[in-house]
Amino acid sequence: MTQELPRHDQAPPPVRTVDSIVLVNTGDGKGKSTAAFGMIMRSVARDWPVCVIQFMKSGKWRAGEVVAARQLGAEWYTHGDGFTWESDDLDRSAGIAREAWALAAEALASGRYRLVVLDEITYAINYGWIPADEVWDALRGRASTTNVICTGRNAPPALVDLADTVTEMRNIKHAYESGVRARRGIDY
Ligand code: ATP
Ligand code: MG
Repeated sequence: MTQELPRHDQAPPPVRTVDSIVLVNTGDGKGKSTAAFGMIMRSVARDWPVCVIQFMKSGKWRAGEVVAARQLGAEWYTHGDGFTWESDDLDRSAGIAREAWALAAEALASGRYRLVVLDEITYAINYGWIPADEVWDALRGRASTTNVICTGRNAPPALVDLADTVTEMRNIKHAYESGVRARRGIDY
């Protein structure tokens, strides 16, 4: 049996250098945020100023990565109110997302950072908590040397279009599905 070789119908484009790129980690599998946080290690190794902005409520769940990233010198903006099940939950989440977006817009435009992580931003966009058109404009109009990573499930098509690198984490199985709760050191 002969194995078919991969076909290369198109010649590879000429190599070029760019000042920065936009990456998206999406999909229903585990690893979107942790892959973004992993890139912080590469960035700080190059002495890049790094900023992380979290769009969803977090609290103690994120303790591990916040502590480590701050030790590495990254700026990290999050909201430590944890999970709640109160009736005003959605409003509170929307408010947090809008605050996060104000910070993010400034961080993208400022030119202060070589890496900006917008963690869970897709939820804030998909729920309509932050203005999608403003997000696309801010990403396209960011300071030229600012790389950006956006994470979250269901990346909107417009975000996929404008991004340079898009990865979909696909869930095959997750411990949670067999009843194993989130674990310290692994999930937060
Ligand atoms: P991580 O932060 O572990 O990289 P993620 O960013 O890909 O996960 P989120 O949607 O942000 O995924 O959810 C974060 C939390 O939900 C983590 O505790 C993670 O283990 C858990 N999680 C991620 N994917 C799944 C899944 N398919 N089923 C159940 N829990 C999941
Ligand atoms: Mg995540």
